[in-house]
Amino acid sequence: MTNKSIEVRNPRTGKFDYVIIPPPPKLLAQQCNRLRRAQVHWQQMGIEKRIAALQQWKQAILSTRDRLTEALVNDTGRLSTSELEIDSFVASIDRWCKIAPDLLQESAKNTTIPFIALQQTAVPYPLVGVISPWNFPLLLSTIDTIPALLAGCAAIVKPSEITPRFVAPLINALNTVPKLREVLTFVEGAGATGYALIEYVDLVCFTGSVATGRKVAEAAARNFIPAFVELGGKDPAIVLESANLELATSAILWGAVVNTGQSCLSIERIYVAESIFDKFVEKLVLKAQRLKLAHPTVESGDIGPIIAEKQAAIISDHLLDAVEKGAVIHCGGQVEELGGGWWCRPTVLTQVNHSMKIMTEETFGPIMPVMAFSQVEEAINLANDSIYGLSAAVFAESEESAIEVAQQIDAGAISINDAGLTALMHEGEKNAFKFSGLGGSRMGSAAIKRFMRKKAFLIKTNSTNDPWWFADE
Ligand code: NAD
Repeated sequence: MTNKSIEVRNPRTGKFDYVIIPPPPKLLAQQCNRLRRAQVHWQQMGIEKRIAALQQWKQAILSTRDRLTEALVNDTGRLSTSELEIDSFVASIDRWCKIAPDLLQESAKNTTIPFIALQQTAVPYPLVGVISPWNFPLLLSTIDTIPALLAGCAAIVKPSEITPRFVAPLINALNTVPKLREVLTFVEGAGATGYALIEYVDLVCFTGSVATGRKVAEAAARNFIPAFVELGGKDPAIVLESANLELATSAILWGAVVNTGQSCLSIERIYVAESIFDKFVEKLVLKAQRLKLAHPTVESGDIGPIIAEKQAAIISDHLLDAVEKGAVIHCGGQVEELGGGWWCRPTVLTQVNHSMKIMTEETFGPIMPVMAFSQVEEAINLANDSIYGLSAAVFAESEESAIEVAQQIDAGAISINDAGLTALMHEGEKNAFKFSGLGGSRMGSAAIKRFMRKKAFLIKTNSTNDPWWFADE
């Protein structure tokens, strides 16, 4: 691991205007030891005091919300999604604080053996490591951290080196809550720091690419610690003949283009019944063309810059590959440089097929390739023809026929007559299918249980010999 400083690029200007310094290995180990020691008291404090500490942190963050917003805008180049991220983060703290006490209740149960009682309890993993990506820097570095802390764990978070500016305002707020500061640390650094972290923690939550997720899961397996890995996607949308086209085009446009398509759950491929194909494309293109780039000012439009420079190259490559293989571009269609940043307007393509990267690999841009199908089975087969299985969307006049299709799609969350709902609604439990991830659901109330090991006290309640013991004589 290196402790050399890392320069950070600003996605709007292309300038490297920020620096992070990864901790040397010895310091990282010391930090983890300190967190592990402090966790003992954090657990003993009880859930109500942990809730109070998290609420104090939330208030401290809200009182400097402007600074956090500014940092997120510098990290990501976009404003409205940054506001949404802060709102979701606050809502997540409130939601978990409300439901955690009931979820963490210990229970006593009768058993099938009348004289043996069972007391069921759960013990938090001492130290949870969280490694997060750049597309929603605040949300994805805290989505697992909040329930882990409430469960009684300490946490060490390694956000992406591409978007690290938001951490400073979080730490400033954290410094006003000494009890929480003792059990929660953010570390700066890139892949080497993330990888080193796995050595020192008792459980790892990773959000990022399949390639890195595999390395993290392998390292965790070597250390015999649980890994929850939430990886990439190539979400399909299926639009049946009966669908409301106005609604379907608006929902799919949002699901594909929000945050410039830089979401794991972005709609990245669209299958439309051939009888409504032309009308669908016409409407989608019209709506896509209305969206404006948030340039020259951050307030001036809907579509922010491409955050990671490496992603701009991937989007260009996928577009080029598609066009070379016969795809037709109806709007947008290229990555352009404006003021030092990389931008891409909402792009609709037709004449696409599964020989193209744009239909099979994660593009992570505001790109909407649309393909016609004649039979519903064909659409389902195409939707399932992917290494990914994160989420999907189905549009139909009746909820029943949409759900019938959804049941046959290999993915963990399916929006019905809407798109990307898991971005906003965290109540539904879901697993990532195929290469999109591994481990228990991070959504839904049971998510907090991932951070605890179950422990059973099996209590003999009488003073006579058990019938299965060896006879005394
Ligand atoms: P990435 O895999 O490049 O990096 C993610 C994090 O892992 C970063 O913090 C990085 O520094 C760290 N890292 C890199 N190499 C590492 C290693 N060897 N060991 C440990 N940590 C290492 O991903 P990215 O480009 O930052 O994020 C985009 C990807 O994340 C996309 O594939 C996207 O679909 C996925 N994603 C998934 C979800 C989900 O919930 N399923 C949510 C958001 C993003």
